[in-house]
Formats: sequence, C-alpha cells, structure tokens
Amino acid sequence: MALRTAVDAVLSVVLAPSCAACDELLDRPTRGPVCDQCWDSIRPLTPPLCDRCGDPLPAWRSISIPLALCPRCRRAGRFVDRARAIGSYDGALRAIVHAMKYEGRRSLARPLAALMRRRGADMLDGAACVVPVPLHRSRRRQRGFNQAVDLARHLGLPVIPALHRIRATASQTGLPAAQRHRNVRDAFRLTRAGRLLPGATVVLVDDVSTTGATLEACARALKEIGVVEVRALTAARVVSPPR
Ligand SMILES: [Zn+2]
Ligand SMILES: [Zn+2]
Repeated sequence: MALRTAVDAVLSVVLAPSCAACDELLDRPTRGPVCDQCWDSIRPLTPPLCDRCGDPLPAWRSISIPLALCPRCRRAGRFVDRARAIGSYDGALRAIVHAMKYEGRRSLARPLAALMRRRGADMLDGAACVVPVPLHRSRRRQRGFNQAVDLARHLGLPVIPALHRIRATASQTGLPAAQRHRNVRDAFRLTRAGRLLPGATVVLVDDVSTTGATLEACARALKEIGVVEVRALTAARVVSPPR
C-alpha cells in the first residue's frame, strides 16, 4: 500500500496524467485512468423503471399498471425480455465509454463491468452465458477490439460469441428509431457457438443502448433458434424522454 502511494506520488508528478473523463489531474494514477469523483458521480437510473427495457417511468405508472411497461414497450412486440444499464448515457459515464471505445482505453472495461455486475445483478442471475454484440469485421479491424467483448469478459459468466454481423450497417447516429430498426434488422447471424444455445437464458452485452434496435435484432436471431430468454445488460442507456 505504501509502495502504491509512493508510485502514485511519482507518477502524478512525472507524467501528470489526467482523468479520461474530466481532465483533472489524477491523484492516484495507479488506480486507473478515471478519477474517483467521476466514478462516484455515475448515478443509477431512478425507479420506477420499465420492467422490460429499463427506462425510467413516471412515478404514478408503476402503481396503476401491474406490469410496469413504458409506452414504447407496450406498443411493440419485443425480443429482448428485460434490459438494464448502469445509468444514463451522459456525464462521466458517457466520457468513460468514449475513452474506452474511441481512445482505446481498454483498461476501463474492467471497472465498468464491475458496475454492470453490481447494478445489473438480476440480469446475470440464473443466465447461462453472456453474448457480446458483435462488430462487423471491417469495424473490428479499424478499432482493433470490440468493446462489448471487453466488457463481457469481466461479468463472471461464460462468454459465448454466438452472433456475427453480416452487414456493415451505416452509422446509426442521427437516424430516427424506425430507420435504425430497419437498418439492423437482418444484420446478425448465428455462429457455430450460437447453435448450442437453444433452451438457454442468455444476456446480450453492449456498451450503449440507444433505441434498442441493435439489441432487438440480436435477440431476434437468438430467439429464432430457440433461446428461451434474452436479457440485455449495457454500460449506458440513452433514456427516452418520459411521457
Ligand atoms: Zn474525473
Ligand atoms: Zn420499456
């Protein structure tokens, strides 16, 4: 411990590394590239939450409806049975996901996954394995790694690469929800490992869920071969405005 403190003292003077999320100088660089204040600022989504997708609901809704579902989940037939995230995709959580994904700070996967385990314990409970959402191989080559695989490795369940992405879907950013769903609908196929999963309960893992379109497309491919229950656990979730 004393050694670590000494190493921290030297590193913070010599290298002056700054937090990957807030840019403040790190007091204890040996503890990772994000400062304690940033980790502490990540709040869980506030209940009541939609039973299915995990979006926050207006408080009155959980009292008036036995199964608390958000408007989107009540409208659509869904392949993802239940989904949860550490928190909303903003602030420090957004900065941390960015640093991991676009700046190659892969060591952030472990502490992020630790938070996913803690806040998504009921997603992992009783599941047979985790299935990372795949990148298309061209994207994978470009980035050098798949952040969903990095996260999945630290969730304490076997990692099964059950899916591959057969179409390089255009960037989803800026597309309306309906178009995102069309964009990814047939983008995933089962791998040989995936064919072992009929009858299982599995947990899809990704860094961010935006409209849920990608998770839905993955879940659909898994359900088509007889996976019983598909849950989803992501680091962050873009929360739709409450209605
Ligand atoms: Zn910070
Ligand atoms: Zn919902």
